[in-house]
Amino acid sequence: MFVDHTFEPSTMSFTQRDADVIVVGGGLAGLIAAAKVAQAEHSVIVLEQARHFGGRAATQVKSGLHLNLGPHALYCQGHAFRLLKELHVPFSGRFPNPGRSVLLQGKNEFAFPFSAWSLLTSGLFSLREKWILARLLQELPRMDVTSLTHVSLQTWIEQRAGRGNLNAFLRTLARLNTYADAAETLSAAAALTQLQVGLSGNVWYVDGGWQTLIDGLRSRASEDGTEFRTGSSVKRVERVGNGIKITLANGEELHSRAAILTVSPGAACQLLNLSEESPLARWSNTVVPVHAACLDVCLDRLSRPEHRFALGLDRSVYYSVHSAAAKLAPEGIAVVHIMKYLREDAEKSYSNTEAELEGVLDQMQPGWRAQVVERRFLPGMTVSHCLPAAAQGGTVGRPGVQVQEQPGVFLAGDWVGSRGTLADASAASAEDAANCVLNSFKNESQSATGSFTHVGN
Ligand SMILES: Cc1cc2nc3c(=O)[nH]c(=O)nc-3n(C[C@H](O)[C@H](O)[C@H](O)COP(=O)(O)OP(=O)(O)OC[C@H]3O[C@@H](n4cnc5c(N)ncnc54)[C@H](O)[C@@H]3O)c2cc1C
Repeated sequence: MFVDHTFEPSTMSFTQRDADVIVVGGGLAGLIAAAKVAQAEHSVIVLEQARHFGGRAATQVKSGLHLNLGPHALYCQGHAFRLLKELHVPFSGRFPNPGRSVLLQGKNEFAFPFSAWSLLTSGLFSLREKWILARLLQELPRMDVTSLTHVSLQTWIEQRAGRGNLNAFLRTLARLNTYADAAETLSAAAALTQLQVGLSGNVWYVDGGWQTLIDGLRSRASEDGTEFRTGSSVKRVERVGNGIKITLANGEELHSRAAILTVSPGAACQLLNLSEESPLARWSNTVVPVHAACLDVCLDRLSRPEHRFALGLDRSVYYSVHSAAAKLAPEGIAVVHIMKYLREDAEKSYSNTEAELEGVLDQMQPGWRAQVVERRFLPGMTVSHCLPAAAQGGTVGRPGVQVQEQPGVFLAGDWVGSRGTLADASAASAEDAANCVLNSFKNESQSATGSFTHVGN
């Protein structure tokens, strides 16, 4: 263990510290934050309660099959991709291979309007809708969406597209990019910004699954001296003197100069023992998470191999053959992710949801049941801790990385900071938290130098 005997100018005492920074949570945000701080030559300990690192970006590996926790696609123009590159994390991937991509409406299948030709020949839209969509797709990449922060996606879509099939298609596209089936509450600015990120650079399905990103980040941070601990559940984080005391569930205490918490909003409030009246606790009590149910299957044969991607128009479902692009399984085995975007107000029946997802697979890959090599149903995954709602100011309404009530404690995660959505929000806030920590250290050492100069004079 790293022990730093740091001279504290403000208390004029030596404090025994286990690390400069303790990061709580070993998911994407925690590991990016750790790698950034360690890169600046500060000591870091990452504490993860689970037995392995990765959080929601973990990949289950079994007999050469790599199964992410539901469908995971990395936005090539997003913050996570940029930071992984900046940190020299090695990973490879490919754009989804669309094959015959379809939109599902009842038993009908419509070609996905990827190209000008498929839009022109689509039987889904009226002539007027085709014209509106063509103009929208042209306009969208350069559209300034800031004025739409407090406007709901539904209001924006109805203004632009009316109530027909184009309305349903735009909601479907927004679901794909935000994972949220909540057009009535979702901020149009948040949804359209994420759509812009998707349209400008597409996504990658990552070879070996997202665990590759996690493992790469860990080795990067390890090279710079970061210590990693699994099975370390944190119970309390508090400021003591001018440092931070971290108490683990097993009673062990660790001390640091700063802490970065990458847990859920509710867990952060609990760890910090915040009163119900504190701004973070009040915000956390109103925030709505985004959930999904996932059916992840590996099949040794696809009856309709050309069917690689589908989205529901009249149902909030997703289907994609990820192994058609990324290396996720031995030759001949297909890794397929089917998902339902869950509404927070919907009645939750796991068996109905599983049957609905199986129904999508029946439609896309008839006879799939005889080909199953592996299958896993994840009924209630938290895709994001925060739906960027119009009423709360979209992504701008999320809390910042600094915890006002506890100086020296910083936050990161998909619910923190105004930049990005999903993993990009986790990555961007991890970068911001690491920069804030490093700035606070710089300020501390500048004021320490100042006081020494004063003493010397
Ligand atoms: C089904 C699904 C599909 C997704 N698809 C995409 C996608 O296509 N594109 C995209 O960009 N994003 C996607 N995401 C979102 C993405 O996975 C997350 O945004 C990202 O992985 C979150 O990382 P994080 O580090 O912020 O949080 P987490 O991964 O949740 O990490 C937090 C970690 O903290 C640990 N922890 C919690 N409490 C404590 C404690 N008290 N002590 C110690 N450790 C603790 C947890 O065990 C966990 O490991 C998807 C998510 C899901 C669920």
